[in-house]
Amino acid sequence: MTASDSVLTPVLGSLYVLQVPIPYPMKTVTVLLDTPRGGPLSMVDCALDTPEARQAIEDGLSALKRHWSDVDRLIITHHHPDHYGLAGVVEERSGANVQMLDVEIGRGERYWHMLKEWLPGHVKHMRDHGMPAEFMQGMSSENPRVHPATRITPLREGQHVQLSGKDWEVLWLPGHADGHLGLWNPEDSVLIAGDAILPRISPNIGLYAYTRPDPLGDYLQTLGKLEALNPARAVVGHHGPVMEGVQARARELRAHHHERLDFMKVEAAKEPRTAFQLSHAMFNRDLNISGRRFALAETLAHLEHLRLLGQLYRTWQEEQEVWVYHA
Ligand SMILES: [Zn+2]
Ligand SMILES: [Zn+2]
Repeated sequence: MTASDSVLTPVLGSLYVLQVPIPYPMKTVTVLLDTPRGGPLSMVDCALDTPEARQAIEDGLSALKRHWSDVDRLIITHHHPDHYGLAGVVEERSGANVQMLDVEIGRGERYWHMLKEWLPGHVKHMRDHGMPAEFMQGMSSENPRVHPATRITPLREGQHVQLSGKDWEVLWLPGHADGHLGLWNPEDSVLIAGDAILPRISPNIGLYAYTRPDPLGDYLQTLGKLEALNPARAVVGHHGPVMEGVQARARELRAHHHERLDFMKVEAAKEPRTAFQLSHAMFNRDLNISGRRFALAETLAHLEHLRLLGQLYRTWQEEQEVWVYHA
């Protein structure tokens, strides 16, 4: 096997990671390839569909002396375009069994099949929270770099899957996405974490029209789970491919969100404001319009978490037709 001196980084036995280029600030997304001796070829996550990503995956497969058509199973950590985009292509070229956590199929994955139908609700949600129309420009009911799979097999929390001839437990790690999946191998203390935890950036925790009502509450619980699990190593979606010190990082991210919650409480107590207005206090810097949409979603996740705890309130303003948050 010459895979170790190629584009592949070994993780555990026959399990390798590939850093696949994506046109986002993170620059790459992690794709895992597993070719156990005589066993099925598995892939975990599959990147956004660009010519560069297709090439990188092809190079990884050929370093393992395999092709697209050899992929038997594709497990996807969550429905975001940088992890899911090529799902339909992989499925079509190989007939691979595409698997995701059951929670992620109904809303997250379904989003790609329902873009046209869901877009008006998505836009209304942001407008109701004060976002002006010009910030909704460029939102489209199509994403040419995402190819949804036609059939998805649901995985359930607590179920076990085999990778590198070993047993991995399926974990539900919600927050960054409702049905974010993790794979946990206690024997070697390795976690396949996707974007549930990242070393250099705080995973975006956003509330959208189609998400669970309290993504930040979900995420704080996920951080508790990761802290208790205390993996020696985690394969992460970006800025990895492998990180150590997950427990300390989970504590750091919890402190970061608690700080933001305190800040939002103080800001909302100053005067009643929309989530969009408050997002400028939380993200007080120059952002492009897609950055401002992320900022709104992240601010809303914090505001709604506080509201569900009974620490903030919101009132519908008939005149402006917007929600305002207040103490
Ligand atoms: Zn993501
Ligand atoms: Zn990602």
